Amino acid sequence: MGVSFLVWFTQIFVKLPRIFPVLESIAVVIIMLFSPGHTDGQIISPKKYLDSLDNSGQFVNKTVDSLPQTKAYDIIKAHLNAPVVDGKVKKVLFVGFDGGMASGILLTEGKTDSALQYLRGTEGGIYNAFAGGQAPYYQSPISGPGWATLLTGKWANGPGGHGVNTNGDTIAASGGPESILHEVARKGGSVAAYANWSGLFSGDDSVFHYEVLDAAAKGYNISFNSLGDDNLVLSGAKANINSASAADLIFLQLDDCDHAGHNDGFGNHSPEYVEAFTSRDQKTLELFKAVEARATYAQEDWLFIMSSDHGGISTAHDTHYTAVRQIYIATNKAF
Ligand SMILES: [Zn+2]
Repeated sequence: MGVSFLVWFTQIFVKLPRIFPVLESIAVVIIMLFSPGHTDGQIISPKKYLDSLDNSGQFVNKTVDSLPQTKAYDIIKAHLNAPVVDGKVKKVLFVGFDGGMASGILLTEGKTDSALQYLRGTEGGIYNAFAGGQAPYYQSPISGPGWATLLTGKWANGPGGHGVNTNGDTIAASGGPESILHEVARKGGSVAAYANWSGLFSGDDSVFHYEVLDAAAKGYNISFNSLGDDNLVLSGAKANINSASAADLIFLQLDDCDHAGHNDGFGNHSPEYVEAFTSRDQKTLELFKAVEARATYAQEDWLFIMSSDHGGISTAHDTHYTAVRQIYIATNKAF
């Protein structure tokens, strides 16, 4: 009996999130009973997974104090709302890895070609965070809900919730929370958004469909680029950064960690996942360096921020397993 099947079978226990810590333990016991030779700690033991993060020395906070995924939005808002210093123009570069696991941070330890380690060396740092909502408003730890939360600062459900509970759900045309992308553009700023996954901006069942329509109707200075390829996302964003009129808010959704996880497994035991995570981390550092090479960099105040919509386990991420819920938020600014 394969581990993938066991994870699939036992996810029924973890789909009921109100009591998932207890149910996850039951699920883990079932996996251990039926797969005694299995050694992937990320599947077998949530405690072992959390300990690996807490003992790594890579994170500012402990996993018990993990930040909610909504915090990424709050950090961007705080940067944009903070007083202007020395007349510098506030700008934001937000890079999200779809399926970026907290344990991915451990892959970057000690590397000089890592965007995450670059951020770790700043006054900001790398924080443990979690996806999937929190009591009493849980949400499926999948892409649509996760990206909606990162960009609106709201969970799916509860007061002001974005209502995206599955892929294919769209934030309502009226009454839904506004994304930071739309807000910056509405206030006269320029925004460039680059997504590999079409589910964010492309089609009438995409998460931000109504904002895309509204921004076009009102002639906002915002480009929603749905590119279907991480390399195109990276090159598009780099070209924007290298232009004199770089957008005030640049957002990237890189999808290949998620692809690798579904194909080869989520976690540092998976060569494909390791390659996807570390290569995108390197490419993100190149974007940071491109920002710093801008002719007008001295007159600009850039927030760099990196996060993820969800983690993963085995080859999936639709359950509230610890390795699925734990993500990271990394930034160059104290908050
Ligand atoms: Zn995703």
